[in-house]
Amino acid sequence: MAPPGNEWYRRSMVESCYLGGCLCGGVRYQVSGAVSNPCFCHCASCRKAAGAPMVPWGTFARTSFRLTRGALAEYRSSPGVTRGFCAVCGTSLTYHNQARAAEIDVALATLDDPTALEPQVHLWVGDKLPWVSINDGRPQFTAGL
Ligand SMILES: [Zn+2]
Ligand SMILES: [Zn+2]
Repeated sequence: MAPPGNEWYRRSMVESCYLGGCLCGGVRYQVSGAVSNPCFCHCASCRKAAGAPMVPWGTFARTSFRLTRGALAEYRSSPGVTRGFCAVCGTSLTYHNQARAAEIDVALATLDDPTALEPQVHLWVGDKLPWVSINDGRPQFTAGL
């Protein structure tokens, strides 16, 4: 976690409600409260799910997340892990792990203002593709935290 005073932290405190949704607009959500562990995930599972070399996630209280339009299609990508996505356009939106059942991870790039919350660390760098170069100075971890 970055220390209080960082720009992302201040903004997460002030703008405590975020809106977002999928590419086609069929699924819309609202999430509120403070984000924790905003990260880039380089794991192979996120990569496949999103069709992208890394996925920026932020963790929120599960009770603070609600759909305002449509429904999430769900895929069990690992035991206890459910990925939520739009069944029409395929956008990856959420990640839920039974091991931390009270939380939900939201794909930060699906926020209406994707600049609102900034990933602070790189996770699962052990899975990182060789053609991705990390040179942004953010801490890197071989696996999850
Ligand atoms: Zn959609
Ligand atoms: Zn991942």
